[in-house]
Amino acid sequence: MLSFDPDKVTLPAGHYVNGKHLRGQGNALLVKRPSDGQPVADLYEADAQLVDEAVTLADRAVKQSGWASCPPRERGAVLRRWADLIAADTDTLARLEALSSTRPIHDVIHHELPFTAEAIRFYAECADKYSGDLLPTRAASLGMLVPEPYGVIGAITPWNFPMSMASWKCGPALAAGNAVVLKPSELTPFSTVRMAELAIQAGLPAGVLNIVQGGGAVTGSALVAHPLVRKVSFTGSTQTGARIMSDAAFNGMKPVTLELGGKSPQLVFDDAGDPADVAGRILRGFTANGGQACVAGTRLLVQRGIAQALIEKLVLLCQGFRAGVTWDENSRYAPMIDARQAAKVQQIIVAAQQQGGEILVGGERFADTGDGYFWQPTLIAGVSSDNPAVQEEIFGPVLTVQIFDDEEQGLALASHATYGLCAGVHTRSLDRALRAMRGIAAGTVWINRYGRSGDFIIPTGGFHGSGIGKDLGRQAFEACQRYKSVLIDF
Ligand code: NAD
Repeated sequence: MLSFDPDKVTLPAGHYVNGKHLRGQGNALLVKRPSDGQPVADLYEADAQLVDEAVTLADRAVKQSGWASCPPRERGAVLRRWADLIAADTDTLARLEALSSTRPIHDVIHHELPFTAEAIRFYAECADKYSGDLLPTRAASLGMLVPEPYGVIGAITPWNFPMSMASWKCGPALAAGNAVVLKPSELTPFSTVRMAELAIQAGLPAGVLNIVQGGGAVTGSALVAHPLVRKVSFTGSTQTGARIMSDAAFNGMKPVTLELGGKSPQLVFDDAGDPADVAGRILRGFTANGGQACVAGTRLLVQRGIAQALIEKLVLLCQGFRAGVTWDENSRYAPMIDARQAAKVQQIIVAAQQQGGEILVGGERFADTGDGYFWQPTLIAGVSSDNPAVQEEIFGPVLTVQIFDDEEQGLALASHATYGLCAGVHTRSLDRALRAMRGIAAGTVWINRYGRSGDFIIPTGGFHGSGIGKDLGRQAFEACQRYKSVLIDF
């Protein structure tokens, strides 16, 4: 039985620093349940002093505990135990996640949790698999590139996938011998505290993984600016990413990994195959987590010959969605995270219509969902490329539809002035698929599928305004190290 009573969940207290729970002394931020808008807890945010304490303790812990200097294989063993403890703690973690996040408990248990544990296992494997380099030089010399951990990495994550985002940041950073101070989103603060408790139980030295709670303006910016934070790994909006990059530059020229927003196209060619099958992929691409995924494929670009059949199927599929609170095991569809996000969806739909957009299905909140923020899957046709629904990252279940006649036109529509995160290409022609892959400026291109699976070996990261650097894969592990060039004469 997965369903639970949301009023009977014990919430881990505020921050987790040096292996201890701490209550913040700062501003109180109210955490609400997206499913019904009810308050869950006050979060007392970490002020600059508490952030300083956490970072200073992390710096001390990583140096004194031997975490940075122990054989990498030992770090891998701790991470493997951590992943096992996370997998075994499903009951607690899933409830914490389903309470304040948008993920229905069924999704948390079957996707978010296993993916979180598996990402950590992936980095447990990386810990002793990759080394530096020996560089050819003169006969009586030896050149080396020696990797070293940074020390303390500041990680800042969004609310849409709280546990997996934490695993993508902490897994590679810890495997490479760093300490982490993580600030989760102030909207979804609970599950990462439990994850950190389990890390210490798994054998991670106290102080090597710490959680500080709070909003961006106070807690996030203090973390980025702290002189002992040597690298910042951030996932969130493009606007915040730009701010963080600037703060990191002006406070010690810190390197940054930035995983930012997207407005990804899904290109469907006439030869894509069965429209029902393609419609299923398009649907998952823009409705997963209520469209609140950076990788959401929210711009359907469809060739004229298949357009009508595909759109008919999509409309039917959209009508099949039902809203339900996240703590009910039968719920499959996510609410918007909060009232502000729901209002943004509405505002862009209205603006889209004012500029000629035609709603084919949806366009409204679900009836009978009380104060919950459930929004119907929405298709908008009749839009040109300058329509706000085509331009802006909505972060809701809204798909715009644009029709093209030939490949050149389709590829031209696929490009976006700001973002370059992902793209989907649906065609049976290998040549066309590969031309499209080359022609689209996006960090990830999916061909005849949409969305990643548990393939953590494949990194993710955007071009242009969608970010800098990669999460996942060996690349994220390598980016948690700095490289010292050494030249020895003998
Ligand atoms: P957001 O940018 O508002 O906040 C993200 C995090 O940054 C939060 O923890 C927030 O408190 C913190 N923050 C805000 N201002 C800050 C500042 N000045 N200094 C330091 N920290 C600050 O984003 P959000 O609304 O939480 O998440 C949605 C966004 O995240 C979307 O744009 C989405 O596309 C993006 N996202 C990207 C990826 C990816 O892998 N590319 C994955 C998930 C989400």
